[in-house]
Amino acid sequence: MALAEDNEMFGAIEAGGTKFVLAVGHSPTKIIARHEIPTRSTAETLEAAAAWLESHGVITALGIASFGPVELDKASPQWGRITNTPKPGWANCDIAGFFAERLKVPIGFDTDVNGAALAEYRMGAGLNASSLAYCTVGTGIGGGLILGGAPVHGAAHPEMGHIFPRRHSHDLDFEGICPHHRDCLEGLASGPAIKARWKASLSELPSDHIAHEIIAEYLAQLAHALFALTAVEVIVMGGGVMKTPHLLDRVNERSSQLGAGYFPGESKHKIVAPSLGDQAGITGALLLASAP
Ligand code: ZN
Repeated sequence: MALAEDNEMFGAIEAGGTKFVLAVGHSPTKIIARHEIPTRSTAETLEAAAAWLESHGVITALGIASFGPVELDKASPQWGRITNTPKPGWANCDIAGFFAERLKVPIGFDTDVNGAALAEYRMGAGLNASSLAYCTVGTGIGGGLILGGAPVHGAAHPEMGHIFPRRHSHDLDFEGICPHHRDCLEGLASGPAIKARWKASLSELPSDHIAHEIIAEYLAQLAHALFALTAVEVIVMGGGVMKTPHLLDRVNERSSQLGAGYFPGESKHKIVAPSLGDQAGITGALLLASAP
């Protein structure tokens, strides 16, 4: 990737369900200004984002890393849209089309987690690694995957929060809360799934509570599946639930047990916290702008 010349300015949007993070910068490492706005109606939010970007002068390109699901097929007339989100008013929102029309610039567009994965791969935990997955465990569970230097797009984008883990023997009665699959990973191990079972967040429960073992088990199964299916080297696990003390250690320990020494590349496998912290998403969006 050719980094931008200093005289070029790029815009970036990390579009989330509760807030939009906006930035302008000469390159992903040179953010000049950053701003957050709450996610309201599509008209209000997109207008406020456009006005802020315009107030910083002319940009060369815009990168958007968006909550999903989104359409990523460039051959589709639906490209650049948020598709069937349950978020009221946002289904079928032509987010890339709005900014292309308004700002008259090329748009780089991907999911928020693919954006974060790209940022960690190029500038964070994935430096010197061949491949990286970025998983967020919070209100929902999602993940982006970088293989061969680029985010994985197939029929759409990965939905790794919706795999079905093998149930923990002390967690057989809980139905799960995913409206589509009930006891998929998100239905069992997201923040709301934890609250639904134990009426508290994981970090509020005592460290010897079985919940820690149960959630670590499910996340370790996600890591195991990623290692087995994709041979990815580095898995970054972020999001609110992952801020629970010692959860990452538990996931690492259990993932090693599940692997049982079988994987040929095991010495390269790593499950780590985000290096870029909460900046991964907006940095990823700026990277998407640099190569729309
Ligand atoms: Zn599901």
